[in-house]
This record gives sequence, C-alpha cells and structure tokens, in this order.
Amino acid sequence: MRMIDHFMDGRSLHLDGRLGDVFDPNLGRVQAQVGLGDAALVDRMAANAKAAQPAWAALNPQRRARVMFEFKRLIEANMQSLAELLASEHGKVVADAKGDIQRGLEVVEFVCGIPHLLKGGYTQGAGTDIDVYDIHQPLGVTAGITPFNFPAMIPLWMAAPAIATGNAFILKPSERDPSVSVRLAELAMEAGLPAGIFNVLHGDKTVVDALVEHPDVKAISFVGSSDIAQAVYARGASAGKRMQCMGGAKNHGIVMPDADLDRVVADVMGAAFGSAGERCMAMPVIAPVGERTAERLRQKLIPAIASLRVGVSTDPDADYGPVVSAQHKARIEGYIQMGVDEGAELVIDGRGFSLQGHEEGYFLAPTLFDHVTPAMKTYQDEIFGPVLQMVRADSLDAAIKLASDHPYGNGVAIFTRDGAAARAFVDQVEVGMVGINVPIPVPVAYHSFGGWKRSAFGDLNQYGMDSIRFFTRTKTVTQRWSETAAGRNFSIPTL
Ligand code: NAD
Repeated sequence: MRMIDHFMDGRSLHLDGRLGDVFDPNLGRVQAQVGLGDAALVDRMAANAKAAQPAWAALNPQRRARVMFEFKRLIEANMQSLAELLASEHGKVVADAKGDIQRGLEVVEFVCGIPHLLKGGYTQGAGTDIDVYDIHQPLGVTAGITPFNFPAMIPLWMAAPAIATGNAFILKPSERDPSVSVRLAELAMEAGLPAGIFNVLHGDKTVVDALVEHPDVKAISFVGSSDIAQAVYARGASAGKRMQCMGGAKNHGIVMPDADLDRVVADVMGAAFGSAGERCMAMPVIAPVGERTAERLRQKLIPAIASLRVGVSTDPDADYGPVVSAQHKARIEGYIQMGVDEGAELVIDGRGFSLQGHEEGYFLAPTLFDHVTPAMKTYQDEIFGPVLQMVRADSLDAAIKLASDHPYGNGVAIFTRDGAAARAFVDQVEVGMVGINVPIPVPVAYHSFGGWKRSAFGDLNQYGMDSIRFFTRTKTVTQRWSETAAGRNFSIPTL
C-alpha cells in the first residue's frame, strides 16, 4: 500500500503511529495511507521551521522572488502529473484539476513580485528633520490548514505569500487528498527553497489543535467548513495568533427577466455541477426574478441537466466525477431526501446513479429542486454536492434580500442586461464576492478572496495584498537626524 509521509526539513519523514485511509473515489477503494501526526510532531516541525526561518528572511526579496519564479516553472512543467494525482484522490476530472493548480499557480506568479509588494510607505519631513517609514517584516513560523476540495489551489493561496514574505510555513492539508501538498513542497525544494521553510504535516483535529496552541506558530490561515473555521479562529485568536479562517458557502445566482437565458443555463451548468458541486464558489441556488423567468428557466434547465455527463476523473468527456467519499455521498443523498420531506419539488433526482465498471465509486447524477423556500433546512445548509435548488423571487429587491439574509455570504452573481439593476445589486447585497454575468466570481490573484458573514472569520482575505499584510507585521519608524540640539519636553510629542 502506498504510504504518504510528512515532509520536514526538506525531506520525507515517516513516523509510526496512527494512519488514515486515502480513497480513490472513482473506485470506492483505499489507494494509500497517510500518517496522522501528533503534538510531538508539531513541536518538532515548529522547532525545525523556527531554526530555518531567519536565514530565509535575511535573503533580499529579489532572491526569494527567484525561487518563486523557479517554483512557478516547475509547477507548470509538472502540471499533468500533478493534475492526475490530484484527480485520483479528490475525484474531480483532470481538466478541472488543472484549473485547480492553475489558480494556485497564479498566486505564485503574484508573489514573484514580492520585492515590490513588500515596499513600505515613506514620509520625508513629517516634522523638523523627521521622517517616517513603514517596514513589513515576516512573522516567523506560520501555518495553513486546508480543505479537501482544492488540494492545490488553496495550499498555494497560503504557501506562496507566507514563504515569499520570508516566513517558514507548515501546511496541514486535508487528510482526504494529501499527496499534492507533498509534491508541491518537493517542487519548492527543487526550486531552491532552503530546507525547513515549506513543511507538510498530515493529520486531523489532533494536529490542528496542537498548531493552534503552539507558541511558536504566529499565524494560521484556515479554509474549511464554517463551524470548524469559527472554532479554530476563536481558539487561535485567544492564544494571541493572527488568524484568518474561511468557512462554507451557499452562493446564489440571481436571474433577471432580461437575462440571456441560454447563456445563463450554460453558465449555471458549470457553476452548479462542476467538481460535483464541491466548491465554495459553486452556485447551488438559482433565484429567477418573476414567475415567467422561473418557468422559462426551468424549461431550459431540465434538458441541460439531463445532458450532463458524469464519469471517472480520467474521462476527458466527463463534465464531473465522483464526490470525495462514501460518507459525503450519503450526506448529500440525505439532503435530497430532506428536501422532498420539506416539501420542495424534486424535478430531477440524481440518486441511484451507477457507472458501469465503477459501481463502488461515489457517483451522483445531478439533482434539481424547484419551489425551495428560505425556511427550508436544505436551503439554509451547505450541501456541497451536485444539487441545484431553485428559489423563486418576486422582484430584484426580494432577490437581494434573499442572498443578503442567508447565513453564508461567500459569492453571488446576477445575470442581467440592465446596468442600473446590476449597480443596485452590487451596492446592496451582503456578500463578499459578486459576479455580474460571471457565475463563479473568484477574484484574480492580485485582488483578494474572502466572503462575509459565516463564510469568513478574521479581517484579512486570502491572496492579493491582503495576504502580504496577513503574513507580515508592520513596523513604523519615526527617525530624526538633526544638527539642532533637542530641548527638554515633557508633553506627548506633537509635530
Ligand atoms: P473541513 O472543515 O472538514 O476540514 C478543513 C480542515 O480542517 C481539514 O484540514 C481538516 O483536517 C481540518 N479539521 C477537520 N475537522 C476538524 C476539527 N474538528 N478541528 C480542527 N480541524 C479540523 O472542510 P472540508 O470538508 O475539507 O472542506 C469543505 C468545506 O470547506 C466546505 O464547507 C467549503 O465551503 C469550505 N471551503 C471554503 C472555502 C472558502 O474560501 N471560503 C474554500 C474552499 C472550501
């Protein structure tokens, strides 16, 4: 059986102890085992990272950037094998796995500009012979805890800015698909990163708790489900750490009566069902405005959904693959039944789907519900599967209120030809990332990614300038170089 080991001090580290099963969701079989670390390993890794970090931070930023340029080149050169490895553990199709890697790679590209990104502000002559300037220094040892659904992109969201700014970084990937993280750390070493700067710690709650408590871990970036994000945020913040914890989502697509419905349906297919709906920026709720829009949309959605092709990750013609685990599949099926019990109309039922030759794989065909209402638990909760729920809205105001009142506030999109409606929507909706005729509004790498409400805990977002701020602390220097002797002054200095 293949063994997935930790990565510390620039090499693989095997430890005896608890193991976790890593499945192939296409086959429903265990394909590897991953070592599950403990608090002693966290101690060891943090000490090793702490010892390595000062020399890395002391390199000028241009030299750190050169490592990032080479890291980018190596990821590109290994794209195919990384994507296949990722798909085999996650279940997403290989083309989508490449997108997962590409969106992470773009954050590596962003931090190739680290000399520029780290420049501080400077004010000459803030007082007589006085200048003021800011410097942004690394924090020391930092950590990232990532979810199963983007095994390359989200580790790179965190690792790239953490390392480029001069920190050491401990990555705790999802124990469900941990192999790509190890490959990324190996490639970073090959790119010239010193040992001890990019470490991979496998495990579950035990190691997350140890990281959150560890005095030498100065900042933690977390992405996962909301209850865990909130708990990790609260514990880390009370231990005095810098924390950013992204949570779950339930993104709405608002369809105005003037929208081009053929384009909307094409967009919604990918946004609702791509990656089997296992994306925090998926669009599991569609909210047409007005009954006529709803009926027209429904008539177009039904054949489009029926034409979707579910297949194994390596099938180039498949639109999406299996969900990640047997438990997750059962959970999604449970939500479909709950929707029926709550009184929503089950238009297309994706349960009971079986793929020939892969009968044990975790496949689900697409599901469509209509007449879902805000009070339903299936509407309130994140299902995280290939299930699209239609919630009919009477007006644009009602649609804005619907998205704004939902406990999650990650992403939202409006489909319209009306600029004034789009503008009002952007202004009023209480959601962090907004698309206008863009179904999955994940910001580009030089902006930042973050939701509102239960979708994010903490103030600074992922990647972009927010990540440079998150992984550094600012020191502000007020200097006087003066020929004039200073007088005695017992009042607070004013300029
Ligand atoms: P998860 O919360 O189960 O796990 C996330 C991480 O936390 C993993 O590394 C896991 O090992 C660890 N963990 C699990 N249980 C823990 C516990 N009790 N205490 C401490 N740590 C624990 O999430 P998941 O199922 O891997 O990922 C899916 C979730 O992530 C969805 O809710 C999705 O919306 C969310 N997500 C959010 C974003 C975002 O940016 N907002 C992006 C991707 C995924």
